[in-house]
Amino acid sequence: MDLFNVYPINPINIVRAEGSTVWDAAGNEYLDLYGGHAVISIGHTHPHYVETLTSQLHKIGFYSNSVEIPIQKQLARQLGEISGKNDYTLFLCNSGAEANENALKLASFHTGRKKIIAFSKSFHGRTSLAVAATDNPAIVAPVNETENVVFLPFNDEEALTKAFEDFGEEIAAVIIEGIQGVGGIREASLPFLRLIRTLCDQYSSVFIADSVQCGYGRTGDFYSHDYAGVEADVYSMAKGMGNGFPIGGIAIAPKFKASYGLLGTTFGGNHLACAAAVAVLDIIQQENLLENARAVGDYLIDELKKFDKVQEVRGRGLMIGIDLPAELNHVKKDLLLKNRIFTGEAKPNVIRILPALNITKEIADRFLTAFEERLR
Ligand code: PMP
Repeated sequence: MDLFNVYPINPINIVRAEGSTVWDAAGNEYLDLYGGHAVISIGHTHPHYVETLTSQLHKIGFYSNSVEIPIQKQLARQLGEISGKNDYTLFLCNSGAEANENALKLASFHTGRKKIIAFSKSFHGRTSLAVAATDNPAIVAPVNETENVVFLPFNDEEALTKAFEDFGEEIAAVIIEGIQGVGGIREASLPFLRLIRTLCDQYSSVFIADSVQCGYGRTGDFYSHDYAGVEADVYSMAKGMGNGFPIGGIAIAPKFKASYGLLGTTFGGNHLACAAAVAVLDIIQQENLLENARAVGDYLIDELKKFDKVQEVRGRGLMIGIDLPAELNHVKKDLLLKNRIFTGEAKPNVIRILPALNITKEIADRFLTAFEERLR
């Protein structure tokens, strides 16, 4: 095996991008309905984003966490404002896996306990604890295997109640995606989330909402279940946070004390990453992108439900899963090769739509037309 081979899934060389459009080296235009795995939140090369990063880089890109970095405070302030969780503390790192890793460690430090509850089809990242809490044995190395993680069936209230009755005093944290992404766009039910809240309160365990994919405005709410008033103790985030610049973080409820030095990482919260994240929040706020995600998302979901051949449409806002029958498993590939539209997938046969939050209705319509053509 050539270790220097980066094995692209699609041999397409994307060299330029704007909004929800990208171009390859030969000048062919593609629609980006996937945002590079839900990463592109405010569209590619947005002028305010480019300007904020460029001017930050001219001033300073990085200096160690041993000094004051005011732009971290600005980011925390803006995040508190848009999420309505002004009293949460922000810890900054560089990816979704690292965010979850730290969320789980914090829960263990805080409770002094070791057990973690995770759910079937979960995906939390590829580092040690994050991957141990991920329901995909194929990506768990022997060194990551641990009896501390207990998997329960997703949305099964009975199994969850029983687990807490059996060993609630040992449970440090419950980690759940409000809407499972890699698992095929499957939403946690409200009664299930409310039960997690109740049991975590009752047993002093930590409720971690992995919002790496379903958060940051994707569903039209800042965190996926804000609309229902479900509140987690820790929200992990990454992906859309930097619109492609690596940054992740956890928002920590005030009742948890993350004392200095408990969590840490060299690059976390550097000036340039924070500038990227601040620019993203500026744009989400100034351009009302939560509203847009809801409106265009509702429209897409309604229209997709009209196709007879579609088995099920799942998700909320701009996090959409289209379940297709097995004989249509060529649709995703054809959308790319014949219509030049990037989408994502989940097993066994789900097309995942995770576009930028500022996708227009016109682009949604272009996708719907192409999709209809592929179904024919
Ligand atoms: N949590 C969820 C819900 C994710 O979808 C992902 C990435 N697919 C991660 C965590 C891991 O994020 P990263 O790849 O940035 O480590």
